Amino acid sequence: MKLTSNQRQIFDNIDSDAALSKWQDWKWQIKHCVHDLKTFEELLEVKLPEEVHEQFKKTVKKFPMSITPYYLSLINTDDILNDPIFMQGFPSGKELDIDEYDMEDPLHEDNDSPMECITHRYPDRVLFMVSNTCSMYCRHCTRKRRVGDKDSIPNKKELLAGIEYIKNHPQIRDVLLSGGDPFLLSDNMIDWLLTELRAIESVEIIRIGTRTPVVLPQRITPELVEILKKHQPVWVNTHFNHPREITSSSRRALRLMADGGLPLGNQSVLLAGVNDCPRIMRALVHKLAYNRVRPYYLYQCDLSEGLSHFRTPIGKGIEIIESLIGHTSGFCVPTYVIDAPGGGGKIPVMPNYLISWSTNKVVLRNYEGVITTYNEPNSYEPSFCDRKCEKCNLQLSLDDADEYKSLGISKLLGDYDETISLVPENNSRHERRDSYQ
Ligand SMILES: *Cc1c(COP(=O)(O)O)cnc(C)c1O
Repeated sequence: MKLTSNQRQIFDNIDSDAALSKWQDWKWQIKHCVHDLKTFEELLEVKLPEEVHEQFKKTVKKFPMSITPYYLSLINTDDILNDPIFMQGFPSGKELDIDEYDMEDPLHEDNDSPMECITHRYPDRVLFMVSNTCSMYCRHCTRKRRVGDKDSIPNKKELLAGIEYIKNHPQIRDVLLSGGDPFLLSDNMIDWLLTELRAIESVEIIRIGTRTPVVLPQRITPELVEILKKHQPVWVNTHFNHPREITSSSRRALRLMADGGLPLGNQSVLLAGVNDCPRIMRALVHKLAYNRVRPYYLYQCDLSEGLSHFRTPIGKGIEIIESLIGHTSGFCVPTYVIDAPGGGGKIPVMPNYLISWSTNKVVLRNYEGVITTYNEPNSYEPSFCDRKCEKCNLQLSLDDADEYKSLGISKLLGDYDETISLVPENNSRHERRDSYQ
């Protein structure tokens, strides 16, 4: 990174010798995050249109700006208003438009929270929000309601309450550290937190969701990787949305983690004007796979307030997945999901491949449009499942056959349960039945 003398002056007048080492110091990056329009324009040597200025001033009152110098340096000023880095980092007046269907907390995270830092939605895993702060405020943040609220790192006492909750719920086998950005905690704090979690016998895997490899790759230091390695298995999920975000710095961060043996995944958000294009997504997933990052999810943009200008129709996501399945390596294809408003969790949506079926045959189509048939076996003897495994020939020998209750559609499919229908709680049928009694 070469800084001009003007830029160096803005950054506390650092001299050119110091510039490189400071630039590579993540704490320096955070200290010099850009929050105001004047510094933004001076650093990039641009003058944004007057109406953009006005919208900026209104928007930041509700949704503040923070961009790391590194991420700012990726903006290409030739067509700045359409630049994908600019669009993800710079406040738009459209964030103040509240759409008819917008919600403050569309995923009902607050409802599923036994305490502020825990969202327990799925039986076997929890979201543990261990940091209230981010280096850069992504304009498309799903937790926009909280951005800039209280930029604090929870103290050990608050975190211990979350750890206690996990300890007291042994069905939790997967803990997802999120925030904010967990990698904004200090190395010591991360080490302490992972040690505490690892001490809980029922916790099998720990996942960390972070955008630092994208917006602050300097944070991924050999020391941090050494700490994470001690607490394996630790999966790291990052958040690249556009191929331009993959730079030599972010590649170095990914390489350090992959060499450290940390499995890497990526969650992208489908964003109008940023990556709603099959060719862009294809370039992105290829670059990710090349850097040993497995594309995990592609999210439909949530219904959080202030995101309406980023939303696409669901068809755009299906079109992107259609352009990937079969056309590229299977492990390059993320699962496209809608995080259901109201707290239903992630729901996958896919193009349809099963065209029709009869009693012994299914008709399928492939990515090229070839229509084909698969003949099903003439005889198949399913083993009756009572979930006790005693009379079954399949050799599942779990030493701890402590499976939790069957749930949802899989319960309807199973032999072990007599439920034949699922009826919504406030279905009027209940009322009618009650009135008979
Ligand atoms: C996304 C999410 C998870 C993890 O879901 P996976 O599909 O296992 O990645 C867990 N809890 C909450 C509340 C989530 O939003």
